[in-house]
Amino acid sequence: MLPDTADVVIIGGGVMGASSAYHLASKGNTDVLLLERNQFFGEESTGRCAGGIRYQFSNEIDVRLSLHSISMLERFAEEVGQEIDLRQCGYLFLLSREEDVKVFQENVALQRGLGIETEWLSAEEVKRKASPVDTTGILAGTFGPRDGLADPSGVVQGYVKGARRLGARLLTDTEATGIEIRAGRVCAVSTSRGRIETGTVVNAAGPWAAAVGAMAGVEVPVRPLRRQIAVTTAIPELPDDFPMVIDFADSLYFHREGNGVLTGMSNPQEQDGFDQSVDSEWELTHLERAVARMPVLDNAGILNRWAGLYAVSPDALAILGKVPEPEGFYCINGFSGHGFMHGPICGLLLAEEILEGRAHTMDIAPLRIDRFMQKGSAKEYAVV
Ligand SMILES: Cc1cc2nc3c(=O)[nH]c(=O)nc-3n(C[C@H](O)[C@H](O)[C@H](O)COP(=O)(O)OP(=O)(O)OC[C@H]3O[C@@H](n4cnc5c(N)ncnc54)[C@H](O)[C@@H]3O)c2cc1C
Repeated sequence: MLPDTADVVIIGGGVMGASSAYHLASKGNTDVLLLERNQFFGEESTGRCAGGIRYQFSNEIDVRLSLHSISMLERFAEEVGQEIDLRQCGYLFLLSREEDVKVFQENVALQRGLGIETEWLSAEEVKRKASPVDTTGILAGTFGPRDGLADPSGVVQGYVKGARRLGARLLTDTEATGIEIRAGRVCAVSTSRGRIETGTVVNAAGPWAAAVGAMAGVEVPVRPLRRQIAVTTAIPELPDDFPMVIDFADSLYFHREGNGVLTGMSNPQEQDGFDQSVDSEWELTHLERAVARMPVLDNAGILNRWAGLYAVSPDALAILGKVPEPEGFYCINGFSGHGFMHGPICGLLLAEEILEGRAHTMDIAPLRIDRFMQKGSAKEYAVV
């Protein structure tokens, strides 16, 4: 049953909406209503993502988000009561261009300055760690020993069940269709199942953030961009401790998935759009490159494949917090391909912002939407 009123209405039931609902409820506000239009929570970007978690970013704010979020994932099973298959197998970036070597040296210095033990590796060290990946042409690499993987659906289910346990209401099959504004304030949300009066609306609509922003008259600069993944049958040569390996120049990555490999590669020609069908032409290019980098893949079959959407912001950084107007409208958007890992901390920061007036666990000034009205913000470079 749809209630007539709610203190906070969250639009979108991926990791961001679920984490926001959980953190609002755990801070004592249980008059929270989350609306998800699909039949299940976490089926869109979150359910289609590669599950990677890492500290290795070029931008200080992203590293700081990871510092908080990864420790929340480490405590997740105990605090939220759900297993999330956390595997800190490390992320190994392979660098084949001089310009990347320079940028990643600066990244390692930044990360180490913030207390993260990222290692700089010579070509020979990379070769040993990346096996059975062929490292021909690789000049150097970086390794983050506490980076790794976690299960996205476990994280969403944990937050959904936890929020419900605390008293929040989370509904599927309910689409938000409009937002009413009166005297510069949010006052109601209309949905496919009726109207709810509320003074606070959270835009957690992932790749659809611009459309939900438009309902409130807010221009949210987020565009949808298709990315796809293939999972192989068993590869006996794969060591148990095989890390997430990323050939940065090609945005080509591999990690262990069951007894096989999950691989993805970003298509630089991809156009913005909501198409989530697998592009089989691009898959051929991707698999050709993947086999060239990891020849043992040639002996494996494809077990599964899918496509999903990145929600890309102009500087590849998140858009988080209250907007200048209308009052009562909040964003948690634009995670640009690395939002799963930042779901825990961003939901907490948003709950602080709503309930306490301002996020305080971390300063979110660099993530506020009004930065797009200013010049000179620093773009995230380590985007895959
Ligand atoms: C192929 C791929 C690989 C990725 N790999 C990684 C990775 O390794 N690590 C990482 O950290 N991130 C990764 N990401 C990015 C990550 O998946 C996203 O940043 C994150 O899941 C965003 O979560 P979200 O809740 O914002 O969006 P979503 O999970 O898309 O949730 C938004 C929800 O809003 C709902 N919705 C939209 N409009 C409405 C409406 N009007 N009414 C009701 N509901 C609505 C949608 O149905 C959807 O369920 C990857 C993404 C893709 C596509």
